[in-house]
Amino acid sequence: MDNEIDWGNLPFGYVPTDCNVRCTFRDGKWGPVEVSHSETINIHMAATALHYGQELFEGLKAFRGADGKIRIFRLEENAKRIRESAKGILMEPIPEDLFREMCIKAVKLNERFVPPYGSGASLYIRPLEIGLSPRIGVKEADEYLFIVMVTPVGPYFKGGFKNTNICIMREYDRVAPRGTGRWKIGGNYAASLASGKKAHDLGYSAVLFLDPKEKKYLDECGPANFYAIKDGKYITPKSDSILPSITNLSLQEFAKEMGMEVECRHITVDELEDVSEAGACGTAAVCSPIGEIDDLDTGHKYIISRDGKPGPVTTEFVRRLEAIRHGEEPDTHGWNTIIE
Ligand SMILES: *Cc1c(COP(=O)(O)O)cnc(C)c1O
Repeated sequence: MDNEIDWGNLPFGYVPTDCNVRCTFRDGKWGPVEVSHSETINIHMAATALHYGQELFEGLKAFRGADGKIRIFRLEENAKRIRESAKGILMEPIPEDLFREMCIKAVKLNERFVPPYGSGASLYIRPLEIGLSPRIGVKEADEYLFIVMVTPVGPYFKGGFKNTNICIMREYDRVAPRGTGRWKIGGNYAASLASGKKAHDLGYSAVLFLDPKEKKYLDECGPANFYAIKDGKYITPKSDSILPSITNLSLQEFAKEMGMEVECRHITVDELEDVSEAGACGTAAVCSPIGEIDDLDTGHKYIISRDGKPGPVTTEFVRRLEAIRHGEEPDTHGWNTIIE
């Protein structure tokens, strides 16, 4: 099967692998870790996951390094974040050790699907948790299933590393002001599908959402965090309705190392007039340079990139991220978990 995968041309899509790893929370405790060869799950038709949106997930990646070793990037941070998501929608938090163990196991057992060094591809790890208990009245479940599935994905910048355009659209909010935006849950994605499709149909790669309360400040950028470079500073929105991106945290470290100040604060729409670079960051998007931001409601176009090329800071961010993840540069922050 290995020979059938065209590593250089993988999409960001689902490719079957050998197995997934599962664990069930029942009678007040997590059971044994099980390896499953099934791609489906058999659950009660009244499960809370299906009726009341008790579903959450994570997304992280494993890379084959220059030295042939496999590295998982920032596993600990994802282990912490998934617990916050669980608490947010009254699901059972997964112990950090269990999360680590199951992610490592899923990668090891599917080692042959970790794309070769140099292909630009990686192994995407998608942990997910669902509420199993049948409920008709609105109430949280008391049984949960946690699954770690993996799938090889191609490089995000398929057509090469280049700018894309995004848009501001006030017709939709992704989340409510004190709602679920800070948690990685399926419901937030359901709420963003219609606006995302509209943006794509108009030729934009994502919607730059505004804060849902005042519609004054920049918020989340589709399924990624937004950042910009302004007066030589790294600026990124601070908001209760944004998912705290681990990629964003990594870029903030890079920015400091590169001598920039980092500001996590409210950013008004007008400030886009004076930024020299902007990008969308996340595990899937890496950090994706933005050329132009069009406000669909006012017709105003914010031209971020004057020469049409990704800016030097974003280009350096991507270089550093890729180098650390592939073991080409020392992992001074201890971000990689090397699979032995
Ligand atoms: C996952 C996600 C991100 C990116 O987070 P990373 O930890 O960098 O992958 C940003 N925004 C939303 C809404 C997300 O779900």
